[in-house]
Order: sequence, then structure tokens, then C-alpha cells
Amino acid sequence: MNDLTASHSLAPYGWDDGFDADFTPHAAAGLLPGRIVRVDRGRCDVVTASTQGTDGGGTDSQGTVTVQADAAPVWSPDPMQIACTGDWVALDPGRRVVRALLPRRTAFVRSTSSKRSEGQVLAANVDHAVIAVSLAAELDLGRVERFLALAWESGARPMIVLTKADLVPDPAGLSYLVADTEAAAPGVDVLAVSAESGQGMDVLAGVLGGGTAVLLGQSGAGKSTLANALLGAEVQAVRATRDSDGKGRHTTTTRDLLPLPGGGVLIDTPGLRGVGLWDAESGVTQVFAEIEELAQRCRFHDCSHTVEPGCGVLGAVESGELPERRLESYRKLLRENERLAARTDARLRAELRRDWKQKQALGRHMGERKRGTRR
Ligand code: GDP
Repeated sequence: MNDLTASHSLAPYGWDDGFDADFTPHAAAGLLPGRIVRVDRGRCDVVTASTQGTDGGGTDSQGTVTVQADAAPVWSPDPMQIACTGDWVALDPGRRVVRALLPRRTAFVRSTSSKRSEGQVLAANVDHAVIAVSLAAELDLGRVERFLALAWESGARPMIVLTKADLVPDPAGLSYLVADTEAAAPGVDVLAVSAESGQGMDVLAGVLGGGTAVLLGQSGAGKSTLANALLGAEVQAVRATRDSDGKGRHTTTTRDLLPLPGGGVLIDTPGLRGVGLWDAESGVTQVFAEIEELAQRCRFHDCSHTVEPGCGVLGAVESGELPERRLESYRKLLRENERLAARTDARLRAELRRDWKQKQALGRHMGERKRGTRR
């Protein structure tokens, strides 16, 4: 980071040389950079440098101000293009309107509901996907793999945090659990932490010190506790007063994106927590990289690793090289992904059919008018 960027008042929010470079044309057009800290029904809360104008927003010690901006100019029929928490934006000098989004480095996307499974971006420009897994319950490696697939797919770097380590007082037991998790997560750091005893928390804070992080994981995994411990008492007190002043003033209380006291940024949006699997096929193959590698040994190119002779994957299960659980988990995730894709296809097909019917009806109508059969 150069000196100019480091001293930028948005640096605590993750501004760096790369974003600075991407912003050059917007700066030339007289626009201001800002980062979206919350989106609510088409309006964005954006932190931006507090040097110009007054908006009635609360200025914080970092020289930033939260302003409300209209996301409408970046509205798009493509939901992937709609502004979301974590996006860097170009604001007009009046700071009321978002003129453009900077290119996203990473994006967490999920299907919106069972009926409409188009993508919705939940968080943008996330560097670290922290997957919280509780040590208070039996390790569910299948679930860990599911979250890993999502994380890889987003482009963020996943790490696994085994929470509530204070509940596993036996150090040998703890290292087994860490080793088991590592085996299901090739290339991913696994860290045991306890918000209760503080174990591992400084290491975690250090890792998150550079860049933007999100917390993923099942309900009860300890995400809120972890977020509170990372954010520190001061920010918590601010958060506790969230929405309490009712005067429409926008202060730090309404943010889903917060700078961490030890450096780095945490995005904690309610929607991201129960994130579903969405088009994570390349993420899935990354989680199961060793299966993809074993597949190179298969006699047939399009081997489904189920019944084919000379299958490298089944061979590895037989020899004990690949745990059967891994293969089952891999199949389950791919199936789940296919179901989602099929749902989207069904929606697209329905839309096309509707369009076609409308055109047909219109054609019939025009034809009747031409022939004079319609009054
Ligand atoms: P979330 O649903 O993922 O946000 O989980 P919470 O943060 O609400 O935590 C779920 C439960 O686990 C709460 O009862 C917490 O008090 C408990 N918990 C969280 N972190 C720890 C920890 O480090 N040690 C212990 N013993 N309990 C914890």
C-alpha cells in the first residue's frame, strides 16, 4: 500500500491500491469513493470520506461519514449487478446517488428462495470466509465441506475456526479434531479458538487483520460470540443502541460492515449466515480436489465413478486411499447443485414459454386484424 492509500480515511474500511486504481476514471469524473455498509430496500448506507459537505450523518473518528444513497441508478434486471454490502461505489459529489460499482473481487451469491432461484449477491469483496464449526457438537465434516464449497466459489479464501475449544480440555483430543477437519479441507487453515478463554483469538484477529472477512456456519456455531469478541466492547455498545435513536440519523449503529479494532473489516449481514448452496460447482470440485485428481486415473473420460470398470476413484476407495465418506459427500454436493441449476432452468424455460405465448397471441391478433376477422 502506498502512503497516500494508507492515509486514506477509507483505509480502515479496506480501501487499497487496487481499488484506488480501479477508481481512477471515477475520480476524474469528480465522483467520490465509498463502501456500502448496509442495503435496505434499494437504499444503501455508504461510508465515505467526511471532508465535503454535511449530510446529517455521524462522523466517526476515522474521518468517515455514513450517508444514505439511492441504489436505483445501478438497478439492473440482472440481480448480480445490484449493489450489496461490501461493494465499493462511486458516489456523486452530493453523495446521494450511487453512480457506479467498482468491479467486485469476490462475491457471495445465493438463490433467493425456493420459488425464484436467481442469484442474489449477499456480500462483495470478501477476502476471508471464516467457517465457524462448534466443538460442542460432533464434527459434521459433510457440513464443513458444504460451507467450503460456497467459500471457494465466492472467490474468498476459506479458513475453518473450531469454536468453543474450552469445551475440549484434553489437548490430544483437540489436536485429533483439528487433524480430522484438516483432512476434509485440503489447503485450508484450521484454527481452534475459544471466545470464552481467549484461546486462538489473537491468531484469528491477526489473520483477519488484512482484508474483509465474513463469518459463515450453522446457527449456534458461535458466530455472534466470535464477532463480538473480535469487534470489542466499544463497538458492541454502539451496536446495542442500533436503531434506538429513531430520528433517522445514520450513525455507526446501522452498519453490517464494521472495521475491526485490530485491523481488517467484518461483514456480518443476517442474510449471509444461512447461505444456501448456489452454483457452487467449481467450489465443489475445489473442495474435493483429490477426487478430481484420482479421476485422472479412470479408464473412461466421462466416468461417473459409480459402476465403470477401471475407475480410479472407486479404486482409491477400495484401497483405503480415499475415505468413502468423502466420495459420498462429493456426490451429495454435486447433486444438490444440479437440483438448484435445474430449478433455475425451469424458471428460465417458464419465462421463455410466456414470452413465446405472448408473441403468438400478438401474431394472431395482428393476423386477424389484417384479415378483418376481428372487430
Ligand atoms: P451463532 O448462532 O453462530 O451466532 O452462535 P452464538 O454466538 O449465539 O453462540 C451459540 C452458543 O454458544 C451461545 O450459548 C454461546 O454462549 C456459546 N458459545 C459461543 N462461544 C463460546 C465459547 O468460546 N465457549 C463456550 N463454552 N461457549 C460458547
